[in-house]
Amino acid sequence: MGIHKHWQAAAAATLIAASAALAQTAGKVPPAELAEARAIFKQLIEINTTDSVGSVTAAAEAMAERFRKAGFAAADIQIAGPDSPDKPGRKKNLLVRYRGSSSSNKPVLFVAHLDVVEALRADWTTDPFEFVEKEGFYYGRGTQDMKANDAILVADLIRLHQEGFKPDRDILLALTADEEGGSYNGVEWLIENKLEVRQAAFAINPDAGGVDLDKGRAVSINVEATEKLYADYDITAKNPGGHSSLPRPDNAIYELTAALQKLAAYTFPFELNGVTRAYLEKLAPIEGGQNGEDIRAILKTPPDEAALARLSAIPGFNSIVRTTCVATRLQAGHAYNALPQTAMASVNCRILPGHSAAEVRDRLAALFADPKLEVKSLGSLGHGGGDRKPMTPPPPIPAVFVPLTAIAQSIWPGAQVLPTMEAGASDSVYLASVNIPSYGFSALAIERNDVRAHGKDERLPVESFEKGLAFYYEFIKALGSH
Ligand SMILES: [Zn+2]
Repeated sequence: MGIHKHWQAAAAATLIAASAALAQTAGKVPPAELAEARAIFKQLIEINTTDSVGSVTAAAEAMAERFRKAGFAAADIQIAGPDSPDKPGRKKNLLVRYRGSSSSNKPVLFVAHLDVVEALRADWTTDPFEFVEKEGFYYGRGTQDMKANDAILVADLIRLHQEGFKPDRDILLALTADEEGGSYNGVEWLIENKLEVRQAAFAINPDAGGVDLDKGRAVSINVEATEKLYADYDITAKNPGGHSSLPRPDNAIYELTAALQKLAAYTFPFELNGVTRAYLEKLAPIEGGQNGEDIRAILKTPPDEAALARLSAIPGFNSIVRTTCVATRLQAGHAYNALPQTAMASVNCRILPGHSAAEVRDRLAALFADPKLEVKSLGSLGHGGGDRKPMTPPPPIPAVFVPLTAIAQSIWPGAQVLPTMEAGASDSVYLASVNIPSYGFSALAIERNDVRAHGKDERLPVESFEKGLAFYYEFIKALGSH
């Protein structure tokens, strides 16, 4: 029997049994469990896990202690990670195994990063490393990205364990280092060093997606099914230079800026994949109006050119339907009174799944059509370094999407589940590179215009935390009863 088919049938049966219970309790958590989860959240916010002065290890140890106290076997709680000589002892990850009844079913992996972006006390209204509850919000660095989800996963796994829930396969939780920056990416390290992580059937990464609120109303439930490939390039013009009183036509700055103007005028071809097509089909009725009509018009073959031009003028939309490249840095010349010998621009590209960084390099070189220009691929220099592999969209497997949709719609009724392609980059690329399909869903509902991740006075509605906790409690149960 096909594995997907099996999942589908079993998941549907589970849901019918669960749906009656869900209708009563959707989005609610018993007070004692809620208080416990809030205490975990507070503890995590107040452990500084920035790359500069913080310690991911300290947060990993604190969570390990909670799992030990909850009765998880010592062998199932690992603090593991690289030596990190320049940040000694600060980059260890936590890997917890919640034992299932069968080892023949491949484990489900939850990944969530513990590190946070830097935050300066002077910029903030309250101390970013103090957990503050005020006017219906929790404030602190990581309340959105992503210590709320760390706390939710820890609290729910401990709650399920204490209730005696026995999943039908192992559930792995990896709380990791250096997603936001730093040189010791925990997911990459765990994949290389921990066999059980590589054996996962699929992964859930709450660092992407989420529930969009519009004035308190949930409008969409976004699940990241794929993401674009991050790639940096250097474009360099060189020539002999000389005295500035004797200008020459082969000025390096003119040569480079001519190339950049070609880049500014260029658009990569329109292209949809399974994820973006499904997303746009569902988005059209939600958007409505001219945008809704235009979306329908570009889904036709061939797409309507006028509709595509209107939509492409919206940056967020444009990023969904094509590869984009943009000049981000510029460096040229060495003196006021000398012809420039070197001019260099950095170009950052976000490449559609199915295309490679090398292919885009060749496209840029062909576009510039200037053999004297050097177009050099730098991999993901500005995002952790190394060559990232392109992420092929995994299928929206029923084992994930059937329970996710049912549970999410019981908590946020009226909102649709949309599979999305993230224009940014997350740790899911590391999982995809070893063929572990990874789906991104933060169960946190946030106002569209109140996204404060990486920003000052980061905050999360108190109500969103409880709903996220309720979501993952049901979702983990469903994934462990397939
Ligand atoms: Zn994040």
